[in-house]
Amino acid sequence: MSTMKFCRECNNILYPKEDKEQKILLYACRNCDHQEVADNNCVYRNEIHHSVGERTQVLQDVAADPTLPRTKSVRCASCGHGEAVFFQATARGEEGMTLFFVCCNPNCGHRWRD
Ligand SMILES: [Zn+2]
Ligand SMILES: [Zn+2]
Repeated sequence: MSTMKFCRECNNILYPKEDKEQKILLYACRNCDHQEVADNNCVYRNEIHHSVGERTQVLQDVAADPTLPRTKSVRCASCGHGEAVFFQATARGEEGMTLFFVCCNPNCGHRWRD
């Protein structure tokens, strides 16, 4: 499996082509003269970018959980929405229960504590 490469000059597909003199692999464009040396050191960058999205997803799940009580006596400091789900949980590194609120605006998911 290889990744498709595109010509940076004209955006057409680059085809692998062997340079027999230099014994290197090139990617050459069939539309223009552009060619570039193939990157053989396949560096797979495994960056993890999902943490923020995942966290938001969890908060949205909480906000959509019909078993959790809701209150309209609060206002989200982030988006101004007037309804929030609330639940008790133990905050990390703390003892005892804390009351948490999660904004019911699905585009917000702001969470705060009492
Ligand atoms: Zn090209
Ligand atoms: Zn909000």
